[in-house]
Amino acid sequence: MFFVICVFIVPIIVFVILHIMTRDKSDSEEQNTEPMEMCAFCQRDFPINQMLEKEVGTYGKIYCFCRECIEGLYNEFNNYGVKTGE
Ligand SMILES: [Zn+2]
Repeated sequence: MFFVICVFIVPIIVFVILHIMTRDKSDSEEQNTEPMEMCAFCQRDFPINQMLEKEVGTYGKIYCFCRECIEGLYNEFNNYGVKTGE
C-alpha cells in the first residue's frame, strides 16, 4: 500500500516542481522586460534604464528624456554657442 502511494505521489511532486520551475522562468522573463517610458521630447518609448529622469519645474513633475534627444539638445546647444560666439 505504501508503495502504491509513493508511485502516485512521486509523479505529482515531480509535476509540481516542474510546474514551479517553469513558472519561475516565466516570472524571470517578465522581470527581464524592462519597464518602458515615453520620452517627453520625441514621444517614443524606451526602456527606463536607457533614459534620463529629470524633475522639471516647481511642481516636481518628472520627465524622461532619451539619449538621442539629450545628444540632439547637446549638439544644438554647442552649435548655438559656436554661432553666437562668432
Ligand atoms: Zn526622445
